[in-house]
Amino acid sequence: MSRTSVIAGNWKMHLTKRKASALAREVAARQGAAEHRRCIVFPAFVHLDHVRRNLKGSNVVLGAQNCWSKKEGAFTGEISPYMLRDMGVQVVLLGHSERRHVLGETDSLLVDKLKVALRAKLEVMLCVGETLEEREAGLTFEVLRRQLKALKHVKDSQVPRVSVAYEPVWAIGTGLTATPAQAQEVHAEARSSIAGILGDSAAAAMPVLYGGSVKPANASELLSQADVDGALVGGASLVIDQFGPILDAAPVV
Ligand code: PEP
Repeated sequence: MSRTSVIAGNWKMHLTKRKASALAREVAARQGAAEHRRCIVFPAFVHLDHVRRNLKGSNVVLGAQNCWSKKEGAFTGEISPYMLRDMGVQVVLLGHSERRHVLGETDSLLVDKLKVALRAKLEVMLCVGETLEEREAGLTFEVLRRQLKALKHVKDSQVPRVSVAYEPVWAIGTGLTATPAQAQEVHAEARSSIAGILGDSAAAAMPVLYGGSVKPANASELLSQADVDGALVGGASLVIDQFGPILDAAPVV
């Protein structure tokens, strides 16, 4: 089955309001009317509304980097997925490695976040990936299977709103990238785990993105792998001279 490529930019805790707005306009212009690829940007919460305005009329999708696990309540400093939806956000990133490993998010918290985000009618991009120690101990597939268990909570009708990003922790922001063969091996395993949880047709349709030091120089080869359906890009998504060529590397199916 051919899946539309997804190229996503995770802007993390970077940029000012003015720079985020300008970058949004540049990404919108570069994405143009392309139909063979989907483009998503994940700005910081406080820039969402400015970015939304600057993306208006474009086919770039607005995403948020995180949300809380409840609809509303006394959760000072947190953001409900319903608030994101109300703000015009379409996709939320959950379980990014910095949330798991720097901020201590657990698989069970992520299950709660996934359920409420899907109830809020957001799309969810669930990030999974092993640390260097786990890879060296031969635990990559085990970690992947454990993190993907969250998908057991996705109802059939919600499957089209879910994607997965495989991001080996050792490759994020380090300049180290999984080789195309390493990425393909893990993506194929992820797809078979997804099939075990949600069935073959869901697994065949679900985008599985690769993330971890994707750059213009390695994007084409990574994106040409059979089970790599796109890229989640951190550092290189902050400048159009780098993100533009990565967008252009999405294969025309
Ligand atoms: C990310 O933040 O998801 C990421 C993959 O970062 P980088 O591209 O900088 O490694």
